[in-house]
Amino acid sequence: MTAPADLLFRLTERLGEKHVLTAPAEIAPHLREWRGLFHGNALAVVRPADTGDVAFVVAACADAGIAIVAQGGNTGLVGGGVPHGGIVLSLGRLSYIRAIDPLSASITVEAGVLLAEAQAAADQEGMLFPLSLPSEGSCTIGGNLATNAGGTGVLAYGNMRDLVLGLEVVLADGRVWNGLSALRKDNAGYDLKHLFVGSEGTLGIITAAVLKLYPKPSSRAVGFAGLSSPHSALALFDTLKRTAGHNLTAFEYIPRFGLEIVLKHRPAFPRPLPGDHAGYALIEMSTTHAGAEASDAIETALAAAIDRGLVENAVIGSSETQNASLWALRENLSDVQSLEGGSIKHDVSVPLSRLADFLDTAIAACEAEMPGLRVCAFGHFGDGNIHFNLSQPLGMDKATFLKEWGRFNRIVHDIVHRMGGSIAAEHGIGLIKRDELGLYADPVGLDLMRRLKCALDPRDLLNPGKVIALSANPPPALPKE
Ligand code: FAD
Repeated sequence: MTAPADLLFRLTERLGEKHVLTAPAEIAPHLREWRGLFHGNALAVVRPADTGDVAFVVAACADAGIAIVAQGGNTGLVGGGVPHGGIVLSLGRLSYIRAIDPLSASITVEAGVLLAEAQAAADQEGMLFPLSLPSEGSCTIGGNLATNAGGTGVLAYGNMRDLVLGLEVVLADGRVWNGLSALRKDNAGYDLKHLFVGSEGTLGIITAAVLKLYPKPSSRAVGFAGLSSPHSALALFDTLKRTAGHNLTAFEYIPRFGLEIVLKHRPAFPRPLPGDHAGYALIEMSTTHAGAEASDAIETALAAAIDRGLVENAVIGSSETQNASLWALRENLSDVQSLEGGSIKHDVSVPLSRLADFLDTAIAACEAEMPGLRVCAFGHFGDGNIHFNLSQPLGMDKATFLKEWGRFNRIVHDIVHRMGGSIAAEHGIGLIKRDELGLYADPVGLDLMRRLKCALDPRDLLNPGKVIALSANPPPALPKE
């Protein structure tokens, strides 16, 4: 038997035929990423049931010298979960909530648990698991950890790295590292869990995690403010942060173009404010204090901001339904961009103090480069994180536009780098930013990353070609379409 045939035989013996998929129609959804920018190939998709199965699969692949790409919900946005040969290890069957401990404010979940399921389990205990992404109904805790996911709760609770207490990981040789600690304080040597958080399946396969829970807010309020510029957004954020402190739980930015395309493609959504503004802030405040109302706090803060000329107009949701419809304007923004043709995307961050200058500079540079380009720069303003997306000029051919991805990378990433920012704020490096990382990362840092990869996965079998390329012929990093 050839090495792949022998491997498939061993995997089928262990997992059963139902869980070793090889038929083209069955494996097709695992070979492409969510936006269809990257397409790959694989020998098989395997679906282990538990940590023991994962360890078996990884050891068998190591014996056969076959690469493994871990997949959770396959909602990643950087091409990190797309296989280029080898086996796709789908973690969906590791779907148990192993324990929930309200006293320690922690929950122990397997890697394939959906983010929405972890949130619901916390909610049932009267607690909050605060990670929140538009993809939460499809993405998994393992994927969230592997990408160090961010989302809309980072301002108040931090990103996935801040929410993890312990991990269980299958290493490249098939051994299992049991680091499932629920301790809040533990300085016993190097903190190994942080090696795996954000490593995008290149250093180990995460099989379970202990995560932090928080008290559930007793009230929340959502406001939507019309602004004259990114500079007034920054001034408004600064004022709200100083006055509301931890009660300010979200501050998202939507440019005029962003709101207009949401309203165009979602005709049932009501326009939140009359008139036209250069940009908008979606603001959420919440409190856990009994007797305190978040709506009072947001009303006072926005009235003061209007008096000071920071806000042109504002509306506050008067019910949970209205709060949800204000949030829907932000949550639909990613989806509707695809209805406007090709979109060249940059997920970047800069120090908050430079954010408004970054937006002014980068928008002007991109518009000057291609007349008719429509910039949709939106996102997690309060975290200094902008999804700096470029929609193609009207009437331009999509494929012709997307060929300019590299040219716009250089313009946008050079400005980000000059301002002390990051070219990968929350989605990760994956495939699409691998070569960009090589250009902008500190050379000593990059060397340390290579050494870590070589130490933990010396044969380059875990998600090869992603984040850092060790081989001479890695898969190409820029999308073809
Ligand atoms: P996958 O896509 O399956 O995998 C992502 C990466 O992690 C791959 O490199 C994969 O190999 C690796 N991986 C997966 N599981 C494991 C595991 N168990 N062990 C080791 N490696 C593993 N992201 C944000 O941060 N913030 C947002 O606001 C946000 N919004 C989004 C909105 C939409 C509409 C969509 C489609 C995506 C959005 N994302 C966002 C991106 C995506 O949802 C996150 O990156 C998410 O964390 C990926 O989880 P997943 O289970 O789908 O992982």
